[in-house]
Parts: sequence; structure tokens; C-alpha cells
Amino acid sequence: MRRLRNVKIVATLGPSSSDYKTIRALFEAGADVFRLNMSHGTHAEQKVRHDIIRQIEADTGRPIAILADLQGPKLRVGTFAAGAADLEEGEQFRFDLDPAEGDSHRVCLPHPEIFAALEPGARLLVNDGKIRMKVVHCGPDFAECQVTTGGTISNRKGVNVPDVVLPLAALSEKDRADLEFACSIGVDWLALSFVQRPEDVIEAKELARGRAAVLSKIEKPAAERAFDAILEVSDGVMVARGDLGVELPVEAVPPIQKRLVRKCRAAAKPVIVATQMLESMIESPMPTRAEVSDVATAIYEGADAIMLSAESAAGRYPIEAVQTMNAVAQSVEGDTTYREVIEASRQVKRQTVADGIVAAAREIAESTDISAICCYTQTGKTVALIARERPRVPIIALSPETVALRRLCLRWGVHTVHSEEVERFKMAVVNAARAARDYGFADETNQIVVVAGVPFNVQGTTNILRVAPCDERLIFRTDPE
Ligand code: PGA
Ligand code: MN
Repeated sequence: MRRLRNVKIVATLGPSSSDYKTIRALFEAGADVFRLNMSHGTHAEQKVRHDIIRQIEADTGRPIAILADLQGPKLRVGTFAAGAADLEEGEQFRFDLDPAEGDSHRVCLPHPEIFAALEPGARLLVNDGKIRMKVVHCGPDFAECQVTTGGTISNRKGVNVPDVVLPLAALSEKDRADLEFACSIGVDWLALSFVQRPEDVIEAKELARGRAAVLSKIEKPAAERAFDAILEVSDGVMVARGDLGVELPVEAVPPIQKRLVRKCRAAAKPVIVATQMLESMIESPMPTRAEVSDVATAIYEGADAIMLSAESAAGRYPIEAVQTMNAVAQSVEGDTTYREVIEASRQVKRQTVADGIVAAAREIAESTDISAICCYTQTGKTVALIARERPRVPIIALSPETVALRRLCLRWGVHTVHSEEVERFKMAVVNAARAARDYGFADETNQIVVVAGVPFNVQGTTNILRVAPCDERLIFRTDPE
């Protein structure tokens, strides 16, 4: 089984997609990565989904990545005596630490960290930004605000504080427990919510101890400002447009998406564009034209992956949503403008031998009728460099390391193949040719490029580029060893 596109599809699992049959259908429709959203469901439920995915991997022989998305510190107001209160624009409203039930003048905001960071003029957004306030006057245990956009505020609604850096770790107690659980069952990627600074990512990586790669969700203005430093310490990025569009004006999100995708591509780190991509498909079997355009835009930008949230987790048409993404990807990537846009947006600083070899592999693929660029890899690092080149032909990653292959499922253009451990380069070439034929990338008359480092099993040694025939008899006849 192979995909006929470069961009990868991440599908979130939830109540609409928790049994073997549905998850298998999502996989067959095109989902390459499954996301477990730790904001919902119990560990037992997540473990069941995890085990089903691993079963599908075993049944299909295809590596699949699992991404556990950690909730992050959720800031919420307390409760109201009447369950809710109506707030009008221009009125005063107070947040404090008093646990007593609230009314139309005040409510508890049980997060002293917020009061410690607030300043007059800072905004407090409630219920996904539907209600907006500006701090007039504040202290260590209260904030007196003016309502700038009114509405009904009700029990335990979420709060966003976009204008200040909160003295809060990105990992709550719950997140730490979820992280440990996710690592212990063997997920491949962790997504970290509400990252504000590089230290947040470093902390998560220390806790993960290499058991999972760590991806930073960019959903706060502070993270956008500190993006270069955050990218440096992250293994990947998610453009989390939901919260980003609450904390910033919605019109600020598209330019940020473009900038983040470019920077991730330049750094050879995978980037997911997420949230509301096919939102109407939660209820409808057909997407809107605007949603299709949004998905297409992310693909033209060269994002590694596009993501479904509620569409696949809680919607009525999870499989149709994956099929839609798959169809849009095939259509966009089949367009000649796509290649032009991708080439024009390639920004690569090449400094090492490996950088030069992968660039040469891409150029050979551009100027001849090479069928695939194959790479024998232990860690996936060289494959990341090949993917950064965004070549015209598919990338086949061969490795004996299941964990490396699973992580590569998030990467643009990469088809992963499990391979036995090889000692000699010639065997890597033979395996690559076989994989190219077996998965329908090439036949015996075609040629492939093989990139590897010799000696094998030594990191950072990418030093060989071989143009090889796919006919094994020719490989044995023409290769000296
Ligand atoms: P969430 O993250 O769905 O976990 O909040 C994505 C986003 O905010 O866009
Ligand atoms: Mn979010």
C-alpha cells in the first residue's frame, strides 16, 4: 500500500473513530498519523486506540505514527450561582481568587499565576474569545476589567490571556501523567500545548527521554515571537490555528502559518497545519469550497502534514473527511503550478556533505527519469534532509528501526519500508530496488537513486549517492561489491 501524494494526513481519534473497523478504514482512506487527544478520554480508552493502531500496523505491514497531544494548562473561570451571567459592553467585571460562586459583577479565576502576570490594558478572553475584557486595575489576587465585547459567561468557561507571558509551565500535573503514560505505551510523537518559551519544550524532552519526539504547538503570540528559539529545540511544529486565532486577530493567522511553514521547511523539521480544515464535515458529507481551498493552501505551502480534529474524532463523516483531504492533495500535487510553487519556496542553506548529496539526488531526479530517491537510514536524519529538498519523485526510507520509520510517517513525501539490517552497501541497494518495485514506484526497467552512509550504523556519515538499476541482476553484475 502506498500513497499517491507527498503531504501527510493526521487524523484525530475519538468517539466517532475508536473501533478497529473505523480506524482501519481511516488508514486505508489515507490517514498516515493518528492523534490521541489527551484533553478527552481516559488512559484506558487511549490505550485501546493505541493497541488497535499497532494491530493495523501488524496486519498491513505498514508503519503508522501515533501522536499524543497533551492538553496543557487549561485556564478556566469558576462557577456562577445562576450557572451563567450576562455581561454587557462597557460594564465592569472582576476576577478574583474567592471560590464563592459568581454573579454579573465577579467570578473566581482560580489561577494566581494569571494575576501575577497581568497588567492594566492586558486582555482577558473568555469562551474562545467570544467575551472580551480589558484589565483596568489589578493586584496579586484580583483583576478589575472592563467588558469590551459582551455575552453570556457561564460555568468553567476557558480563558485566554494573550498579552502577557504567564509564569506557568506548559506541562500541568495532568500533562506530566499523560506524558509518562503516552511514552510508556509507545507513542511516537508528543504534541505540547501552550508552549510559551523554549524551556517548555526542553522540559518535555527531558521527561520523554527520547522515547517520543516532541512537537511544539504554536498557539500563543509569545510562542510566535520566540519561534526561532522554540523551533531550535523542537522536533516538529504544529500551527494550532484554533487557539492562535483566539489569542490573535483571525486575520493574523494566515501570515503566521506561511512564516512558520517556511521556517520549518528550512530547518528540515516537520510542520502540521491544524484546526478547522474541514470543519463543516463534522455535520456534512461535503466540505465547503473555502475549506477545500484552505487545505490546498497548506499543501501549496509545502507543509508536511494537514490535520483533522473533530472532523475525524467526533464528526459524522470521519472517513469522508480523510478521503476529501486525500483527494485535494492528489489534485493539488498533480498541478504543474504546485511544482513551481514548491521549488520557488525552497530555502535551504547547505553546509555539510549530507546536504550536498541530498541536493544532488534531487537534481538527478529532476533532470532524468529516476523513479525514486531511496535512503537506508538508522535514525531518519538523512531522510529529513531529502524531504527538505521537496524532490519531484517519492522518497523511500528503508530502516531496520521501527521507531525511526514510524516517526518518519509525519514527513513530506516519505514512504517508509521496514528493511533487514544490512552490512554492505550493495545489499542496501538491492533492498531499495526491491522496495521500489514491490510498492509500485518502479519496474525492472527503471532506475533509482540510493543515498546512504558507509560504514553503516555510524551516525552522520551520509557519503554515498548511487544511481542504480531496479533490475537486481544488473545490480549484481555492475556493482563491485
Ligand atoms: P487543540 O489544539 O485542538 O488541542 O486546542 C489545536 C488548536 O488550538 O488549534
Ligand atoms: Mn489548542
